[in-house]
Amino acid sequence: MRFLLTNDDGIYAEGLCALFRELSQDAECLIVAPETEQSAVGHAITLSRPLMVRAVKREGRFYGYAVAGTPADCVKLGIRELAGGPVDLVVSGINRGANVGTNLIYSGTVSAATEGSILGVSALAVSLDSRSSDADFSFAARFARKLASFMILHKFNHEITLNVNIPDLPEDRIAGVAVTRQGSARLVEAFERRTDPRNNTYFWLAGETFVAEGEHAESDATALSRGMVSITPIQYDLTRDDVIDFMKSRVEKLL
Ligand code: MN
Repeated sequence: MRFLLTNDDGIYAEGLCALFRELSQDAECLIVAPETEQSAVGHAITLSRPLMVRAVKREGRFYGYAVAGTPADCVKLGIRELAGGPVDLVVSGINRGANVGTNLIYSGTVSAATEGSILGVSALAVSLDSRSSDADFSFAARFARKLASFMILHKFNHEITLNVNIPDLPEDRIAGVAVTRQGSARLVEAFERRTDPRNNTYFWLAGETFVAEGEHAESDATALSRGMVSITPIQYDLTRDDVIDFMKSRVEKLL
């Protein structure tokens, strides 16, 4: 069994290390992760410059490959070039901060996982609902291990990615596991307007995730707010099936 591990917080992130420690008990785990933090780069890939790769050691032993690129670059390189054989599962995380609602579109963590699916490998994205610098990833890592085994056992179709969000609670206060849908929580833009030392204006995005009152009862953010682990099966096909027939019956008139 071979797993490819990545994240968008960078190869030195604590959440990735917690994931590596747990999953290494079940599989050969290869880390291919961005050299620097790449949060919110979405599904970007690098075309205009080379992807430098550097072997990183931890406690004197090979830990993984640091790539001067995006999370999606790391998954492409990992599966196509660095793994040296078939990959059974891509696991992305554990991200510092939840990935719910419309934020999935911006998320490097989630995009790394869906890249796995695009390349024919089942994938799992795991995020912890905490932005604290001393966040505890241990329960999230143990849960990721169980879920990875579950996906292998049930031979998940590679086109399905699971997006998992873990509440920032002690294990005995986790209220349960919910299978959810992507909700409508979104980042509310709040830009701080500042002035640099040369008197030029610049802006810094300081928005926070906002959950609207009409949020779906079975949404990812709703489950998290109830203290439950949220698991959303997601896909990268953006087609609106419900509009296809309407369009087909009318497009001729456009000519
Ligand atoms: Mn991140």
